[in-house]
Amino acid sequence: MNMGNRVVLRVVLMVVLATVCVPCFAAEKLIALTFDDGPRPYVLYGVKQPGAALGTTPGATQGMLDVLDRNGVKATFFYMGWRLTPKTWGETPHETNIGVSCLDAAHDVLRRGHEIENHTYSHADLRIAERKKGEGWVLGDVERGAEAVKGVTGTKPLWLRPPDWDLADHARHDLEAHGFHILTISSQNPVALRDVNSQDYLCAGKGAGCPKPSLAQGVIKAIEQREKKGVYTHVLAFHELTTTTAQLPELITALKAKGYRFVTVTEYMKLIRN
Ligand SMILES: [Zn+2]
Repeated sequence: MNMGNRVVLRVVLMVVLATVCVPCFAAEKLIALTFDDGPRPYVLYGVKQPGAALGTTPGATQGMLDVLDRNGVKATFFYMGWRLTPKTWGETPHETNIGVSCLDAAHDVLRRGHEIENHTYSHADLRIAERKKGEGWVLGDVERGAEAVKGVTGTKPLWLRPPDWDLADHARHDLEAHGFHILTISSQNPVALRDVNSQDYLCAGKGAGCPKPSLAQGVIKAIEQREKKGVYTHVLAFHELTTTTAQLPELITALKAKGYRFVTVTEYMKLIRN
């Protein structure tokens, strides 16, 4: 083969490879929106004042569930087991009783197509709890949380997010041996499998430490940092907070404009690992 033919062959090969392999390199852009610490009915339905009609009267804010529905987004909620007991309204006086129990709210979350996973039963810091009460207590608290979720969903949750991601390595291994899949921010995990900590809790209350100009912009900036490393899949960790709900429309619109698709954690992990 002469030089000219070789060049032609190489060009043809490059064109063929580029055509065939575009899908190989075009990883789907995925977001798994997650919310910890609920269910908090006053956040999910957007009612701050007792007696206020859902989402309509003064004192009412946007309900997180309606915001997600309006945007066609399915999310994953990491719930504390203690809230999934009958006639629990949440923590008084911080959480208004709006006439919907946490348990009823959880059933509604599921009915609307969202996923419910495990955030332990007690929400204790598992590293500290282990030091004080032993690893058996930690395994028990996670198991009890899983049973509470199962009481709503009918199936044992696969995913666990430890409160503040805090968990000793040996307890992590033991929980994994018991079938729990653990979300983490540890640098030992590939970036795509590390939670993005939105730090939305800093925007609640007086809002000290909340990203400027906004939580939504702070999260978009974090995503852009990951994109610079070639990462286009993100598990975003938020909390059930009214201040977070208020930022969701802007955030979801911006991420959709960037080409992201919203999936549950289970779907995300399936797609990432395939
Ligand atoms: Zn939490």
